[in-house]
Amino acid sequence: MKRALVTGGSGGIGAAICRRLASDGHHVFIHANRNADKAEALAAEIRGAGGSAEAVAFDVTDAAATAAALEAIGADAPLQILVNNAGIHDDAVFPGMRADQWQRVIDVSLNGFFNVTQPLTMPMIRTRWGRIITISSVAAITGNRGQTNYAAAKGALHSASKSLAQELASRGITVNVVAPGIIDTAMSEEAFDAEAIARIVPMKRAGKPEEVADLVGFLASPQAAYITGQVISINGGMI
Ligand code: NDP
Repeated sequence: MKRALVTGGSGGIGAAICRRLASDGHHVFIHANRNADKAEALAAEIRGAGGSAEAVAFDVTDAAATAAALEAIGADAPLQILVNNAGIHDDAVFPGMRADQWQRVIDVSLNGFFNVTQPLTMPMIRTRWGRIITISSVAAITGNRGQTNYAAAKGALHSASKSLAQELASRGITVNVVAPGIIDTAMSEEAFDAEAIARIVPMKRAGKPEEVADLVGFLASPQAAYITGQVISINGGMI
């Protein structure tokens, strides 16, 4: 059993990843920001099904609060699986985008990646085994109108992960990115109706959170030991 942290575990994709890692036998820290009740409920559900999980809550943009929470999480034993999944979007065409929309999206996705990942790397290195998996987006690969902030933040996660993969490769730690297309969650429901999905996605359906979770579960497994520094798309053929 490894100890795993999934940021944004209170959200649609994050919850599916928590369930998958728990069913693979890991102890899962289910992270939330504002919806701590959802993380608590999911932890109770997983424990009820015989798994091992607990809820944690902090804002990944608050470096001090994040560091304190991570210290408490790692007090008993180091985390060996980290899934950076927390993210937001705040869309606007660029000429009309406000500075705070730009800043906030970068802050949660990119600075949040630093705030969570950096304190965990040295303890993970000492165990000589680790998995760092970050959830990005197809928008980082193709670009997307109205999402310059989101695509910039997610694209930077690709570069950061490829660099970190090189630093950690000799320590038994893999670092990869999963780039989903349109996945059936509250986040995508606002943006895409069925007609739009049929037009944009060759498979003519949204992906399921569980399909993303299965890919993350594989990347977190011992079988994926030789995969590192990769951006892996899961998007029904969009690119
Ligand atoms: P949700 O909106 O359902 O979940 C977002 C999660 O991020 C929530 O758990 C939320 O916590 C957390 N979060 C937001 N802001 C903060 C913050 N400041 N500090 C800590 N946590 C925060 O989104 P999805 O499940 O749909 O998306 C998950 C990831 O997948 C995101 O990174 C997203 O960009 C990416 N993605 C999603 C796609 C989709 O179609 N759904 C497509 C491609 C990528 P809380 O609710 O507790 O505040």
